[in-house]
Amino acid sequence: MNKPKVGVFGFTGCGGCQLEILNLEEQLLDLVNAVEIVHFTEAITEYSDNYEIALVEGSVTSKHDVERIEKIGNIAKIVVAIGSCAVSGGLNCLKNLYGLEKAKELVYGDKKEWIDSIEVKPIDEYVKVDYYARGCPPNRFEVVDIIKSLIIGKKPEIPNYPVCIECKRNGNTCVYELGMTCLGPISRAGCNSRCPNSATGCEACRGVIDEPNVNAQKDLLAEYGLTVEDIMEEFNLYNSCKGKTIEQRNK
Ligand code: SF4
Ligand code: SF4
Ligand code: SF4
Repeated sequence: MNKPKVGVFGFTGCGGCQLEILNLEEQLLDLVNAVEIVHFTEAITEYSDNYEIALVEGSVTSKHDVERIEKIGNIAKIVVAIGSCAVSGGLNCLKNLYGLEKAKELVYGDKKEWIDSIEVKPIDEYVKVDYYARGCPPNRFEVVDIIKSLIIGKKPEIPNYPVCIECKRNGNTCVYELGMTCLGPISRAGCNSRCPNSATGCEACRGVIDEPNVNAQKDLLAEYGLTVEDIMEEFNLYNSCKGKTIEQRNK
């Protein structure tokens, strides 16, 4: 049986998602045996336009990015968005919050007109995305599960329940008890409650579950004398490009 050809591509991001794949260690060897990697921006010098599966890291932030992602979308039979930059725009969307012109001016000063910089968008604004490996960085084992599922033609199982469930299963003390805030009641699990495990609040880098219990989040905030406004900064960190705000979800 021919191995599926896979391309791993990097757009605007820190490169951490590709690094997570490289960090798979012994599982990486299994992966390399199961597929043929023909393009991997961070790992190999060879490149190819002959692939069936494209794993894409990073957001689209320039006209050149638009051309590249559209080309990938035309070639690949299956596109997987890897990491919050690709899935939702991620941290890069903070540029949009500033306003494009203001952000360009802050970074590039009077040379701003030289820079090819457009509004930040996740990749599915330009191409059809078949699967999403969420997170910043994504859970590398979830990336492997997605690839394995694609190889055997099965739909990958992506959790659609809140981080609180994993957090409670892990026996953590709720960070609200420690004077912090957390988006665990509405955030999509699948990271094994990575942040609360280290006594840090969840900032929803994996986005929000399909039908979030916004009232549970509000009740928790109220219990500690807080309101939705008090967590908007954390929410916007990864989720300002795409999707509804917490308030919009509650309408
Ligand atoms: S999702 Fe996070 S780890 Fe991945 S490229 Fe973006 S900033 Fe880096
Ligand atoms: S709110 Fe955060 S810290 Fe508290 S239980 Fe939920 S995930 Fe854990
Ligand atoms: S706990 Fe929240 S912010 Fe931390 S990795 Fe998981 S989804 Fe992302």
